[in-house]
Amino acid sequence: MSEETVSKDSSQIRQKKMIADHFHRLAQSPETGDKSAYTFVPGNLTELLLSFDLLPVLPEINALQSGMRGKSREYISLAEKLGHSEDVCTYVKSDIGMMKSGNVGPTGERLPDPSVLLLSYTGCFTFLKWFELLREEYDCPVVMLHVPYQGEGKVTDSMRDYVVQQLKTKVIPLLEQISGKAYDEDRLKEHLARSAKAEDDLVWVLESAKNRPSPIDAYFGGVYYIGPIFSAFRGTQGAIDYYEALRREVEERLAQKKGPITPVGELETERYRVVVEGPPNWTSFREFWKMFVDEGAVVVASTYTKVGGVYDTGFRHDPSRPLETLAEYCMGCYTNLNLPQRVEMLARYVKEYDADGFIINSVKSCNSFSAGQLQILREVESRVDRPGGFIESDLVDPRYFSASNIKNRLESYFQMIEQKRLGGKTA
Ligand code: SF4
Repeated sequence: MSEETVSKDSSQIRQKKMIADHFHRLAQSPETGDKSAYTFVPGNLTELLLSFDLLPVLPEINALQSGMRGKSREYISLAEKLGHSEDVCTYVKSDIGMMKSGNVGPTGERLPDPSVLLLSYTGCFTFLKWFELLREEYDCPVVMLHVPYQGEGKVTDSMRDYVVQQLKTKVIPLLEQISGKAYDEDRLKEHLARSAKAEDDLVWVLESAKNRPSPIDAYFGGVYYIGPIFSAFRGTQGAIDYYEALRREVEERLAQKKGPITPVGELETERYRVVVEGPPNWTSFREFWKMFVDEGAVVVASTYTKVGGVYDTGFRHDPSRPLETLAEYCMGCYTNLNLPQRVEMLARYVKEYDADGFIINSVKSCNSFSAGQLQILREVESRVDRPGGFIESDLVDPRYFSASNIKNRLESYFQMIEQKRLGGKTA
């Protein structure tokens, strides 16, 4: 085993252990008395929950883990038998199926029932319907933080005040009641300071892809990198340690001019650099990734790695303004941005990361991501004068992953880039 593999393994081992410990703690909670809050990734209030010693449970993470572990097919089928339509987001159906099958989480241990359902969703209305379904199952309080959509492409003072007011009058009083603890702003500030530190390192890692060759894959590899900070660990020392270790690994790869580690080993020749929009497919994740690797394609930037927070434009959690910063974080998540902002982000990535083009993975389940993607394709193409590609799959429903179709489209797309390099036209 080479030195960099050992080093790579150390951050992965650290992450795996963090996740396993968290799920174990959740499984033990009926005995230990720990309380849990079910909540969603975009717009999560992890630091606030941690300041009340509440353990976060993220249903989308459980759904994507079920997809990666080959369990989502049976969960979705069970949910459909119970009457959930084929058109419903498959994260929801996977979660409902998992719950109806005993609520066993990704590490094989049972998840506790929620002590509270905290709905601080951003952008996607499905989250609201999802918790309406969970509310029917669990006898626990529900609290909703309404996060205004960035319809005009900006966060105004009144939007921020509106969110802060809800935190003060609705969310915090209920969390006090559930946890039996008084709101401790100093404790919240400590968590927020830790968040900012980890966010610095995450941004450094993602931006390392501006180098040639890129030492990372910012989509397929990127989903591992965002794991801790988008889930239960933002604001913890564990997250700081993980991102420091990850950064050291990437620094080493960069110094040695190495490409990313892929499912089939290190990518030796970077032939294409692309930006990707949309979530990945989880049921055939490695096969999907390998289609890019086979072409020598590296994803140098992705929008999916911004769903739980956009940090590369400078936002950091700011401990000196604890509630305001939480409000700004929620409103800034990628799912809360309007179409022109998403176009702007993609065009910027193509230019700043010197990509050959961009690919949209349009997932059937997700209206929040998929609506408007054809318009995005045309707009970004016209701004960057580099080709855009369009493929279709799904998040966790294996019925909508057609390997041959996707492979054909990707091959044609990379041929188009070749033509462009030779001076041909893109369409
Ligand atoms: S529709 Fe998309 S954003 Fe909404 S819950 Fe499903 S996967 Fe998440």
